[in-house]
Amino acid sequence: MGEYDGATAKAVLSLQAHPDDAEFLCAGTLSLLHEKGWEVHIATMTPGDCGSAEYGREEISRIRRAEAAESVRILDGRYHCLECDDVFILYDKLTLRKAIRLLRIIQPTLVFAPSPSDYMIDHEITSKIAQTACFACGMPNIETEGTEPFEPVPYLYYVDALEGKDKFGSRIEPGIRVDISAVIETKEKMLCCHESQRSWLMTHHGMDAYVLSMKRFSEQRGNEISRPYAEGFRQHLGHGYPQDNLLKSILGDLVHERKEYRPMARKQSILAPDWWDYTTLDDEILNDAARLTPEDMLSLSREGFTVIFYDTFEDFYLAEALEYIHAWRQATADNPVGICGPIGPTEQLPLVARLVNELKVNLQDAHFWGMDEWYLDGREVEETHPLSFARADMELCFNRIHTSLKMPVENIHFPKADTSEYIQSWEGVRCAVMQGGQGDIKHWAFNDPVRREGKYADRPPSPEEYRQLTTRVVELHPVTVMQNARTSGGGVVTGVPMRAITVGPVQT
Ligand SMILES: [Zn+2]
Repeated sequence: MGEYDGATAKAVLSLQAHPDDAEFLCAGTLSLLHEKGWEVHIATMTPGDCGSAEYGREEISRIRRAEAAESVRILDGRYHCLECDDVFILYDKLTLRKAIRLLRIIQPTLVFAPSPSDYMIDHEITSKIAQTACFACGMPNIETEGTEPFEPVPYLYYVDALEGKDKFGSRIEPGIRVDISAVIETKEKMLCCHESQRSWLMTHHGMDAYVLSMKRFSEQRGNEISRPYAEGFRQHLGHGYPQDNLLKSILGDLVHERKEYRPMARKQSILAPDWWDYTTLDDEILNDAARLTPEDMLSLSREGFTVIFYDTFEDFYLAEALEYIHAWRQATADNPVGICGPIGPTEQLPLVARLVNELKVNLQDAHFWGMDEWYLDGREVEETHPLSFARADMELCFNRIHTSLKMPVENIHFPKADTSEYIQSWEGVRCAVMQGGQGDIKHWAFNDPVRREGKYADRPPSPEEYRQLTTRVVELHPVTVMQNARTSGGGVVTGVPMRAITVGPVQT
């Protein structure tokens, strides 16, 4: 092993069992890292001393060290050999010290090791050695000749097992695939440096297509992400190792992740496992929210956002009703103004009618938008439906207003299955107040969290995606269905529609 000093943080070490292992399984990714300015090191546990039927151990070792060095030179990198013996790679003090010392010399941020499960024990032992070396290289009580402890623990990734299967023939699914299509030629060139192996494998394994087998497997991994060529990795995410995906940070879109294999995958809902909802948030956030005191909440008031507590329900409903009056009083023929109201609570609605009548507020130019309506059998429910929101608004408020003051029917907008007319109604009329009640599932209107499927299988819609939602038909979270059964469905859960039409964030 040649000594090396001049460690940089941007150093990657592939620590494999034998010469040409890296070229089969991770040379493409090493090449991409090299392009990003990373310093590349390829180390092998052995010089491949049994990889020949014609040369003796010394001779083939000499040949293969040279081949490996030539290969990594293509990436301006360095080759290191820990001088163990093929088939006799041991998990013992001597070997571990060699590996730890190598890490302390190179001080890599990234380490690629063999698959923990593989067809060959040499690879599996090397995998374990790499794992321990990464963990132990910072321990001051482990002394290695001429080197100092090195921290932090590097990012450790396992390359694919040969042919992507374990010793029982089961597929090993890589959580991470790196698109190496742009560098497949470099990978091939590196593999071809191992000239002695092309001939050796032909006689020993009948493997007459050395390069072809590498390309075929890279192609298989590529197909899995709809790219020509890829390499698979699994990240070591045990205690003490870095948890974020550094490869993704460096290589960006070239790195394809299967998020469910990652620890950052969001929790499953304890309310409805097939859905997103607030129970899938990190515990830290939920605990922070639970710790909020009334004083904390009042202190959230700021310019343009006021938190007000009402001491009694009467006070609260009156305040809600007065928001209608304030909004409608601003309406003129030239500048019509409206309010968008929820259908829970409803106690303020009769108060609104009474105030309009008492104060003689003429609603000629005023508007009202209902926030949502139930959706059943492909359309909005009729006003005759016992749960109809439109009917509740009419009965509890609009039908109670004196004929002389009444809002014109065309100014009262309820969402329909065909949303075009409703969406159109938001043009040219100012909505002064969006009155929102928050449901048990923390929704506003019926903008419920979505099912955990399709494009939202791994993550819920982002705030940006959410803000682009328009008025639409939605599927309701089971908690919302339960809540509506309790508050307005007489407790009959099965009588509550599972879908609704709801006003979208775009309209507000
Ligand atoms: Zn090998």
